Amino acid sequence: MAAKENLTERKIVGWNFDNSYARLPELMFRQVAPAKVRQPAIAIFNIGLAQELGLDLDRLSDADLASVFAGQLIPEGGQPIAQAYAGHQYGGFTMLGDGRAILLGEQLTPTGQRYDIQFKGPGRTPFSRMGDGKAALGPMLREYIVSEAMHALGIPTTRSLAVVTTGEAVYREMTLPGAILTRVAKSHIRVGTFQYLAAQQDTENLTVLADYTIERHYSELVDAPNKYGSFFRAVVDRQAALIAKWQAVGFVHGVMNTDNMAISGETIDYGPCAFMDVYDPDTVFSSIDHGGRYAYGNQPSIAQWNLARFAETLLPLIDVDQHKAIEVATHDLNAFPQVFQRYWMAEMKAKIGLVDEEESDKELIAELLDWMHEAKSDFTNTFQELASDYLSDKGKFAAERFQHWYKKWQQRLEREGQPIDKAKRQMQSVNPFVIPRNHRVEEALDAASQRGDLSVMHKLLAALEKPFHRNDAYAEYQAPSGDTRHYRTFCGT
Ligand code: AMP
Ligand code: MG
Repeated sequence: MAAKENLTERKIVGWNFDNSYARLPELMFRQVAPAKVRQPAIAIFNIGLAQELGLDLDRLSDADLASVFAGQLIPEGGQPIAQAYAGHQYGGFTMLGDGRAILLGEQLTPTGQRYDIQFKGPGRTPFSRMGDGKAALGPMLREYIVSEAMHALGIPTTRSLAVVTTGEAVYREMTLPGAILTRVAKSHIRVGTFQYLAAQQDTENLTVLADYTIERHYSELVDAPNKYGSFFRAVVDRQAALIAKWQAVGFVHGVMNTDNMAISGETIDYGPCAFMDVYDPDTVFSSIDHGGRYAYGNQPSIAQWNLARFAETLLPLIDVDQHKAIEVATHDLNAFPQVFQRYWMAEMKAKIGLVDEEESDKELIAELLDWMHEAKSDFTNTFQELASDYLSDKGKFAAERFQHWYKKWQQRLEREGQPIDKAKRQMQSVNPFVIPRNHRVEEALDAASQRGDLSVMHKLLAALEKPFHRNDAYAEYQAPSGDTRHYRTFCGT
């Protein structure tokens, strides 16, 4: 009887699952069940996102809500699986798979969108290797904060629907509170998903996966003449656009392994990511990135490297003649720097209020960045100051080098033939006031993990929600931490 009541209740809340990935060939996934947890409790829940997904979870009691997002109460239509994939991690190839994630299913929203609903940290799967399949509260809240901030910044990203604590401890270097994040994504198909099949030289299933991915994310190419070549070109394009957006806000992903690059073009797998304060292309936060492979300034070339690995998986589909396939793929891969440059210029031009394009704009932007580097100027706030024309630090801005640049910029703005006010408004609409500053994120995570105090995080999330609106109530979130050169982040285990 109780089970029946639950069933109706599960329906009422609006779950509308399909499981198209689970209909793919069996080698692509394993059926799994989330582990039982002791005492699930909601740490944070994203009401706005729930509504977008068509979920009316208000009707559930807190206990049921926690139970659902701890994977204890599987909604009707959910079919939990762990996805198989491989990946180049720091350049070395490994077979991986969802070792601490379980895909519940694909929610079909009222507006006809399809979103993966995935638990991160729900216990062991057949791909867990030596790991426990679990996650700690701090890293899951970090993903929640940063992914939601990225979304508010207008950057394609997976989203975060909920974090629950499990009431259990996870054992890392120290004992930490266990948690599960519910991640929402266009899909979890990665470069590594293709590599998993390519490593087995399974061209038949590669074709199935490519067709599935094209239909799901590049449906305009379903009937394209050179379908798989066009698919590759479109993926290159979306990645170039995505990385340009990262660069424009100073986002450092931190672990751009091929398994962490989503074919949909969304930012995925928030582990040791962080935002750059002082402009420096060598900025690295990840504690294990000793060589700076994933440094801020390397992100475009690493994306291209990952796309080369992706191209390799598609060669047998692009053309039966291997030489021809390589020729086609190489051509599109080599176009990445230009494609990226085009997107990056569009982002950077908007940041300094330009609409037209002049030959010398590239140089104008480069000179600004060079000056910022030399002057150790905060990336976000410099653009903000230029936009508001409030050049606060007289010392820094008084420097001859900056003044020289400033004059050139003013002249360039005049040549646009637009009122300066209009340029300023444009700048204000693309240059964020608030980004998730490292010390603010840490402060929120410490309060939550060490004292069970979530109020600090709620305030931070509120500040991050409208990053382009000046709100004096959140002025304190604009300040850089002072010295984050030694700030270190850790992989989100
Ligand atoms: P990530 O660093 O999150 O990109 O994960 C890389 C690989 O390690 C993936 O295959 C994960 O599923 C796996 N992994 C990470 N943490 C754990 C864990 N605690 N238990 C099992 N597998 C894990
Ligand atoms: Mg990963």
